[in-house]
Amino acid sequence: MKLGIVGLPNVGKSTLFNAITKAGAEAANYPFATIEPNVGVVNVPDERLKILSKISQSEREVPVSIKFFDIAGLVRGASHGEGLGNQFLNHIREVEAIVHVVRCFDNDQIIHVDGSIDPIRDIETINLELMLSDLDQLEKRQGKLVKQVKGDKALKPELDLVERLIGALEKSEPLRTMELSEEEEKMISSFNLLTFKPVIYVANVSEDELSQDSHPYIDQVKEYAEKLHDEVVPISAEIEAEIATLDDDEKQLFLEELGIEQSGLDRLIKASYKLLGLISFLTTGPMESRAWTITDGTKAPQAGGKIHSDIERGFIKADVISFDDLVKAGSMAKAREEGLIRQEGKDYVMEDGDVVLFKFNV
Ligand code: GDP
Repeated sequence: MKLGIVGLPNVGKSTLFNAITKAGAEAANYPFATIEPNVGVVNVPDERLKILSKISQSEREVPVSIKFFDIAGLVRGASHGEGLGNQFLNHIREVEAIVHVVRCFDNDQIIHVDGSIDPIRDIETINLELMLSDLDQLEKRQGKLVKQVKGDKALKPELDLVERLIGALEKSEPLRTMELSEEEEKMISSFNLLTFKPVIYVANVSEDELSQDSHPYIDQVKEYAEKLHDEVVPISAEIEAEIATLDDDEKQLFLEELGIEQSGLDRLIKASYKLLGLISFLTTGPMESRAWTITDGTKAPQAGGKIHSDIERGFIKADVISFDDLVKAGSMAKAREEGLIRQEGKDYVMEDGDVVLFKFNV
């Protein structure tokens, strides 16, 4: 999963990104050898892996990881190419969801580019750039389609859709809020439009406000986000930077002291999963216990395809047991004895926490 971090200058993007990079560097079993400087990788915390790996006496645990792309430099005027703007916008095209950092902390020492703290104005500044960029791209497409449709009537639905999308943007409606048919959804996903991507606002508050349930800036952001069906995660980027340097036990103590249950980063990861409609299935054996990400609704062969394309191609069946049943049984052998392992075919829809062994022809 790839997420892109955007936001105005001086809102706390680098602080958050550095926390992510540090947290990733500390995490064990990090599966990538080298990464680019603007990419931070973190593991998705999954308690179930520890338990599975005990049951199977696995040599290692491999969690799912998320890549965060630091897309700095998105400023007012970016869609017109200001400050390398277009280049940054193109980076956003490659991510699955946008993490939009919004300044919700007061601090006279840290200058705001627009002179005052106003989360909604900031959000709208960035959202406007994203909408203008989409508009520009769609107008170019419209120009081409108008010509092509004369010779090829089959392109008419696409042209209609493009014109509807332009209409929405002209009314300042981000494209993700539009009601679309399945057919249209399919068409639009190939356009790679920015305002079609899911958004999570990270409300960057100061340390002492983190444990408060209500806060005027956060409430404003929540109210705004609700209308667009976007998510909000309050975070203190500075605290995340501190948490990233702690080991698991220290982290727990620190969170308790702060009066919060989970780190902001963990909450951000959870929110991304929810927003993108993702679930995890698990595999386990003496070599490794591992988590895999799929979209909710994925069937067994396609889930197997995440592991290896051969599994999808040669799929025969999947032996499936829910994580909870396996824990109750205590071991795979016991679970088999008790008939808890189900044999599922190619139409089986995977569930979160399924522990799976795929059978396939090579
Ligand atoms: P960027 O330009 O968006 O990358 O912003 P930075 O991460 O460089 O942050 C700008 C300034 O705000 C830095 O001096 C940070 O230390 C400060 N800052 C970032 N997050 C917080 C926060 O949660 N609380 C406070 N008080 N200051 C913060």
